[in-house]
Amino acid sequence: MRYALVTGGSRGIGRAVCLKLASQGWNVLINYASNAAKAQETLEGVLAYGVKGELLPFDVTDAAAVNAAIGGWQAAHPDDLISVLVNNAGVRSDSLLIWLEPEAWSKVLSTTLDGFYNVTRAVLQPMLLAKSGRIINMASLSGLKGLPGQANYSAAKGGLIAATKALAQEVARKKVTVNAVAPGFIRTDMVEGLDEAELRKTIPASRFGEPEEVAALVAFLASDEASYITGECIGIDGGLY
Ligand code: NAP
Repeated sequence: MRYALVTGGSRGIGRAVCLKLASQGWNVLINYASNAAKAQETLEGVLAYGVKGELLPFDVTDAAAVNAAIGGWQAAHPDDLISVLVNNAGVRSDSLLIWLEPEAWSKVLSTTLDGFYNVTRAVLQPMLLAKSGRIINMASLSGLKGLPGQANYSAAKGGLIAATKALAQEVARKKVTVNAVAPGFIRTDMVEGLDEAELRKTIPASRFGEPEEVAALVAFLASDEASYITGECIGIDGGLY
C-alpha cells in the first residue's frame, strides 16, 4: 500500500493537504508537533474518505525522534511505501534583524531546514528502491523575494527552495520528483494577527488564499500526471510578488 506523509498535518495548509490527498485515495500519515486534538480532527476527516490514516507525531527538528517514528512505522509496515512526502511543518517568528533573537533565528531555520533534511532522509531510500516518489516542500513567497522582518523565515524558505532544486537533480533518474510550493498569504493560524484589510491592497487578487487552494496544487504535484515536473518552485499567491 502506498502512503502520503504530511508533516504539520494537524492544522492549516497541512490539514487541507491531508484531506485532499485522502479524497484522491491516498492513505495518509499525519505528523504534528504537539496539537493532538487538532491532529485527531484531521485524522477523522481523512478516515471519512474510506482510506487508511494514522497519526505520526514527532518534532521534525529532532532527528532521533523522526528516525524512531518513521523507522518504527516502516518496520510495522514492511510491504507498504511512503511514496509521497509533503514537508509542510513550519513556524514563523518575525522581527527586524537588529532585534532578532538567536532562538528565533535558530527555531525558524531548524524547523524548515533540519525538518526537510531529517524527514526526507528517513523516507528517501525506499522511494529510490521502488523507483517511485513525490517530495513536495512547502516554501513561501518570502523565500523567493525576501520580506522585511522575516530574515530568518526568508532564509529558511530560500534554503528550502535551493535544496529542492539540488535534490531534484540527484533523484530524477529514480523517478522521484522534488518540487516546492511558494504560497503568499494563506488564511491559517500562521497569519492570525496580520492586518488583512491593509495587506489585501497589495495582493492583485485582493484576498488571502485558502488552504484548500494550496492543497489542490500539492495534490497535482503528488499525482502521476506531474511525473515530468521536478526541481520547480510554483508560486500560489494571487499575483503578489
Ligand atoms: P499553521 O496553521 O501554523 O500550522 C503549522 C503546522 O506545523 C502545525 O500542524 C504544527 O503542528 C506543525 N509544526 C510546527 N512545528 C513543528 C515541528 N517542529 N514538528 C512537527 N510539526 C510542526 O501554519 P500554516 O499556515 O498551515 O503553514 C504550513 C506551511 O506553509 C508552513 O511551512 C508555512 O511556513 C508555510 N506557509 C504558510 C503561509 C501562510 O500564509 N499561512 C504562507 C507561505 C508559506 P502543531 O499543530 O502540533 O503545532
